Amino acid sequence: MYKVLVLSGKGGTGKTTIASSLIELFDSKVFGDVDVDAPNLFLLNRLEVTDTQDYYGLKKAIIDPEKCIKCGKCVEHCKFKAIEDYQTITYRCEGCGVCEFVCPAGAITMVDNVCGQTFEAIDANRKFYSAKLKMGEGNSGKLVTQVKSLMPEQDTICIIDGSPGVGCPVIAAMANVDLILLVCEATMSGLADMKRTYELSKSFNLKAACIINRFDLSLESTEMIESYLKEENITLVGKVPNDSNVVKCINQGLNVVDFDIPAAHAIRETARNLKKIIERG
Ligand code: SF4
Ligand code: SF4
Repeated sequence: MYKVLVLSGKGGTGKTTIASSLIELFDSKVFGDVDVDAPNLFLLNRLEVTDTQDYYGLKKAIIDPEKCIKCGKCVEHCKFKAIEDYQTITYRCEGCGVCEFVCPAGAITMVDNVCGQTFEAIDANRKFYSAKLKMGEGNSGKLVTQVKSLMPEQDTICIIDGSPGVGCPVIAAMANVDLILLVCEATMSGLADMKRTYELSKSFNLKAACIINRFDLSLESTEMIESYLKEENITLVGKVPNDSNVVKCINQGLNVVDFDIPAAHAIRETARNLKKIIERG
């Protein structure tokens, strides 16, 4: 299985549109969405969720008011200010267990905490895996790792839609992939964000390719992106024009590459170029 992780330094670059198109063009048998804060690939690829599992993050402290003698030691030792009026403020609790350790009355218990769900959509031809983290919960990197561990090895090009940014979920997503596809919008901020993502990928020694999306928004920015790619020896696999038909397709939950529009032609060309890199291994 050859794993391609689709990334962008920031949201709104068209990353998921590109990922869903590549899934269709490569006829991927196994694919995933590890943007666990806002997964939406399943919408574009018309997938029906077939199973969900609770995901447990760090435990949370619970105080038993019957046992609590109001000594205040837990409040004093909690570095996260997660205890007030002898009750835990759950969203602040980091599950470190210090309060349980210092409590002289045995009034504190650490309990399991469901902080999200993994989900999958499996049919006769395709296996899709993703997850959704509850709002305000941490451990996104661990959840990404969990989703990736669910993906079975198969002889296919596996497209993984990653998170924007350079935080924990992106770092976790980069582990054990074969190539990152950077989706860069033709703006100066698009270039700056892509640079950060690419710099991060260097510590994983990953092969990288780039697609410039909406390249005609600013030909000057596109030129600067292309010269950065040359400097860094990153293969430019495609340039997609700004095409108003794309938004119409997305709004109807339809895949761009199912239509005879300029953006679809460019994405098909991108897929052909990417395939050549993959075949070279
Ligand atoms: S487990 Fe840690 S973070 Fe949570 S309330 Fe106790 S001391 Fe605070
Ligand atoms: S340390 Fe234990 S007994 Fe003391 S206030 Fe906290 S919960 Fe109550």
